[in-house]
Amino acid sequence: MRSKYTHFGLRARRAAKWLAIRGGLEAIALATTSRLVKSRSSRGVIFTMHHVRPERAGSFSPNAHLSITPDFLEQTIEMLLERGWIPVSLADMPRRLEDPEDNGRYMAFTLDDGYRDNRDHAYPVFRKYGIPFTMFVTAGFIKRTRSIWWETLESMLAKARQISIDLDGVEHRFDTVSKREKYTAFDYITDRFPGNDEDRFVAAIDAAARRAGIDPLAIVESEVFSEAELREFSREGLLSLGAHTVTHVSLAHAPLDRVVDEVRQSAEFVSRVSGTRPESFAFPYGDSSAACSREFDQIADLGFSVAVTTRPGLLQPANRLTPTAMPRVSLNGYHQNTRYVRALLSGLPFVFAPGAPAKPSPSHG
Ligand SMILES: [Zn+2]
Repeated sequence: MRSKYTHFGLRARRAAKWLAIRGGLEAIALATTSRLVKSRSSRGVIFTMHHVRPERAGSFSPNAHLSITPDFLEQTIEMLLERGWIPVSLADMPRRLEDPEDNGRYMAFTLDDGYRDNRDHAYPVFRKYGIPFTMFVTAGFIKRTRSIWWETLESMLAKARQISIDLDGVEHRFDTVSKREKYTAFDYITDRFPGNDEDRFVAAIDAAARRAGIDPLAIVESEVFSEAELREFSREGLLSLGAHTVTHVSLAHAPLDRVVDEVRQSAEFVSRVSGTRPESFAFPYGDSSAACSREFDQIADLGFSVAVTTRPGLLQPANRLTPTAMPRVSLNGYHQNTRYVRALLSGLPFVFAPGAPAKPSPSHG
């Protein structure tokens, strides 16, 4: 089956997409501020983040949407607290939506994949405001048995002047001297993300990277918690650890026995590291092609009380009835302005253009 991840296009399409989304957020921010339109009421929001770290130098950053600064995180938290949003842990969220008399609005913060910068740059902000947060760790990243293909691809293209890669049995060559050529190669390769043969796709990127002098697991080593670091950090009171599979595979494309293995083993990994069985799970990639009803049911059957997707949306009381299919709102590196967060919290972006503000991607979730 062809990948459904067709939104990754060439450089122009990429730029046009982010600009269109920003334009939409600007318009909604303006309309709600001037009370031209009324915000939709909601009872909760779960934020998605990946990297939290200071801005990096370098003009080639195809994964920039996955990285926000600690300043933006702090500004966002201050804005939300001022507006009365109440921080809760993710595991508490379904219960908070139960009481029809409760008019409180609740927010939960989640960080996917297990990046070390979550401790170094996000945690000090959460600690300052006493805000609980959940980190979804990918066991294979922590154990250095699986590379992070979108990061491998970025590092390889940043360095190489030419690459060759085997995609679907065909050797592709790319000149990657200019920034434009690097983005074109990134988008072309990412467009070929084959949901149903992800292992082969990751292996092909790893092989191409090694030929270009990049060690894929060295990137994981430099970006992701080690098991010992995670064990120590898991003692922090505000932090809950959630499971996020072993290999970060798209579960909807995997056979059922692999789904069960990935989920069970990642939960056991978190239990072993933290001493506590995880209550929560995040679906890798998390969009509608990567997680659907079979996966939502499996996660419930395997004993998780809450699971999050990257389907964009705010929470209503009805979401408590499907706690293993929770939508989230992405704090996106391209839209680091609290005005845009306010626009998202109006609920209007999800009505006018479902999916647009946080359109899922292979490297999202
Ligand atoms: Zn992830």
